[in-house]
Amino acid sequence: MSRVCSTGCGTELGAKNKSGLCRPCRCKATMCNPEVQARSTAGLKRYLTDPVHRAERTAMSAKNLARWRASPEGRAKTREFAMANLAKAYEFDATERRRRQRQAAYPGIPESRWDECVALKKHMTAAEAKQMIRDDEALRERKRKAAMSPFERDMERLRNGAGLVAAPDFRTSNPDFTIGGIASASL
Ligand SMILES: [Zn+2]
Repeated sequence: MSRVCSTGCGTELGAKNKSGLCRPCRCKATMCNPEVQARSTAGLKRYLTDPVHRAERTAMSAKNLARWRASPEGRAKTREFAMANLAKAYEFDATERRRRQRQAAYPGIPESRWDECVALKKHMTAAEAKQMIRDDEALRERKRKAAMSPFERDMERLRNGAGLVAAPDFRTSNPDFTIGGIASASL
């Protein structure tokens, strides 16, 4: 009766097989064994401490990479990467440049309201549009502050860097003497 690989992969085993695993399953099991992995990593590290071996490996990697880059597939991929990077860099540049231009054009106006400014400019001058947004911002800020409790306002001031000021104590203390030996409570 023929035996099959114990992983259930369905491969029939030869008569001389001792491990109970087919060749691919045995390789996989070995490679996945952490002990084997550790030994292999340690061995490679030891191997690479030798400068000659290290140089050989580096040269080999470089050669393989160069060969891949020279192949039609490698050429196409390299070109694709380069174009994607260029496009990304250009896009970032254009967006950032535009943002800085608008920041300079709308001083004191938050970025979230720049688009509103642009829309308003169709109906009035740029200066009027900017003033309108600034006034509205000031109004919103006043409303926001008014809705806060004094405690919240103080906490916000502290968060924004306000220092603590000691409140002067004008309370007078009780006299620590009696009049002619009569306790003050009986006066
Ligand atoms: Zn198997």
